[in-house]
Parts: sequence; C-alpha cells; structure tokens
Amino acid sequence: MSNFTVDTKSAVCLLGATGSIGDSTIDVLKHHADRFTLHSVAAASNWQKMATIAREFDVKHLVMWSSEAAEKLSKELGREVLCGMDGLLQIVKDPEVDVVVNGLVGSVGCLPTLEAIKHDKRVALANKETLVMAGYCVEQLLSEHPKASLLPVDSEHNAIFQCLAERPTKEVHHIQLTASGGPFRTLPKEEFANITRAQALKHPTWSMGPKITIDSSTLMNKGLEVMEAHYLFKLPYDQIKVVVHPQSIVHSMVQFVDGSLMAQLGAPDMRHPIQFALSYPERWDLNVDHVYLPDIGSLDFFAPDAEKFPCLRLAYEAGNREGTAPAILNAANEVVVPAFLDGQIEYLDIPKILEDILGKSSVIDEPDLDTILKVDQETRIFTLDYLKSKF
Ligand code: MG
Repeated sequence: MSNFTVDTKSAVCLLGATGSIGDSTIDVLKHHADRFTLHSVAAASNWQKMATIAREFDVKHLVMWSSEAAEKLSKELGREVLCGMDGLLQIVKDPEVDVVVNGLVGSVGCLPTLEAIKHDKRVALANKETLVMAGYCVEQLLSEHPKASLLPVDSEHNAIFQCLAERPTKEVHHIQLTASGGPFRTLPKEEFANITRAQALKHPTWSMGPKITIDSSTLMNKGLEVMEAHYLFKLPYDQIKVVVHPQSIVHSMVQFVDGSLMAQLGAPDMRHPIQFALSYPERWDLNVDHVYLPDIGSLDFFAPDAEKFPCLRLAYEAGNREGTAPAILNAANEVVVPAFLDGQIEYLDIPKILEDILGKSSVIDEPDLDTILKVDQETRIFTLDYLKSKF
C-alpha cells in the first residue's frame, strides 16, 4: 500500500501543476516540506507558471502537454522540457517517484494513471475521467499490482473513502454523493434558456477550472462522479444516490446496512482530500478552516431536480449501459462544454446534444483499453462534425 517510510521524503510527481488541484497540492507539499519533495511536474500550456514552479522547487523533470509551450519553457529555463503523452508517461513511471498526484483535466489523464499503477505507485487521483472511461482496466491493473494504490482526491469520493474506513461492500446499503447544486439550483426552468457563460462559470462554493465549473452547473460533474464511485467502490448504480447540499460542508455519506449513516464534514477546501490521499492512513495537521456547526446554523439537503438537470440522468443511463457508453458521454461532453464556452452553442444545447450523440453511438461491451481510447477519439471527431453541421 505505501511507499512511505518515516525517515525518507516521498517524491511526488504532480500532473496538472498549474491548475487548481496543482495549487492546492503545492500548498500541502510546502506545509509538509519535511515529508515530501516535488520530483516532477506537468501542465498543459501555462509555461510561465511552470517556470515559477521550477524556480521555486528543485524539480527533476518538467512536462508541457503543448510542444510549443515546452519549447518556450525550455528556452526560458535553459533546460530540457519533455512534452505530450510521452512526457507524462515518462515521469509517472520514474523509479524515484513514490506518489503521483493526477490533477489533469479530461481524458488525457487516463493513460498516466494506468502507467503509474503499472509501476506500483500510490496514485492520488483527482482525474475522474480515468475511472469513467477505463474503470474496468483500472480495477484489473490494481489486482495485478497489489503494491500500487489508488486514493480518491475528488472531495466526495475522498469523503466516502473516509466513511467506509475499509469496511466491505456487503456492509454498505448505499452511498450518498453530495452536490452543491451549482449556480442554477434555484433558477426556474424557464430561465435556463438565457443562461450565459459568465453565470455558468460562477460556482457558489468551490473554486475550480472552467470545464469542471460548467460540469458542476449542469450536474454532469456529479454524473461523472456517480460513475467514478461505481468503479472506485464497486457498487451498482442503484446503490449510488445524489443529494443536493448547497453549503458543501457534508462532503458525502455512507448508509450502512445497520442503519448508521456516516458523513464526512469539513470546509470546502481541496487541500484536505489531497493531503488525506497523501497521508493515509495517518492524519496530519493542516491549516484549513475548522467547521463549528453553530457558526453555520443549518445545513440543507434536497433531492436533485432531474427535469432541470438532464445531464445527471444521462450519466446514470450511460453508467448502467456500461461498455463504452461512459467513455462516449465523457468524450462528447469534453467537446460540447468548450463549444458552450466559445459561444458556439447555448446552455440548453449541452444536454440535448449529449443525449443525441449518446443515442447515435453504438456501444461496445467489455472494451479493452485500446478500444476505449479509439472510441474516445472517434466520439470527439463525431461530436465536432455534429457541431459543425448543426450550429
Ligand atoms: Mg467532486
């Protein structure tokens, strides 16, 4: 399970170093500088921020997804910068690396997770697409590599992991993933047609990147998290419920068969789940706000409104369909959300297009990894063509 010893520092490979998971991870590593070194870092295109990180930490390897950004960073620092998927795969399997924190956005995070498991790393996983797309492959690889471990960083799954405390699935009646409900929880359905990008990008409780913020507003993020939970905790979809909880203080719950409902609470701060994935099974001090419930007064819980948020239903449908259906929904969503951000489509088009694409795609059962990756690429091309022809 662990590559940790008390007297040597753990080497961390951080994927998505310039995003919000990257910021929070770096903060945790600084707070525990006696326990960790930042071994290697990867980011998509923000080479300026990567240069700052490289100057602050003595990192061994730098990777930029974009070759153009890699060149600029290399020139700026006067040292080698790797690029693309080859670069990502190279750093995650480095024998010196103990822990891989995967904070990449989207399906690009899938292969690096699998590679890290193959090389017996502890993976702190914030990239939910890995499990949505290739949950089967992850399960199989983990059974073949018992020294590797996968710890969820997504706050809901981290909460479930804490509540479960390694009790077997047969003791679980169901789990409840909490959702803030996003910025449009109370907006009347008739007004959804007028939702703007700026409104959709304003998340009420969490500060995250643009793609996941839009996904939170449509509840697609929760849908992806339902699929993520299905694979992580090996539970059927009828044992995974979503509960809207606007304050984001209860991070998720486990209903056990004996009637006990266990919840994990805390301030909405990603540093907590990141640190827990690094410190597990221990708990270390962390400078996050503590929750004193009388200060909050009351916490609210609602059932999700399936009419207003069809993306959640689509995710359950794709999840239950299994095979390549989750990968298709995820890939289509990764094309459709940027199209909304670019002004090509309206807010209400998002679920309509996704439902149409899902209906038009043929699903392959029990796919291997190559099939999943091929379907991911084909769905992107298909969705781009669809957008071009209709919008
Ligand atoms: Mg989450």
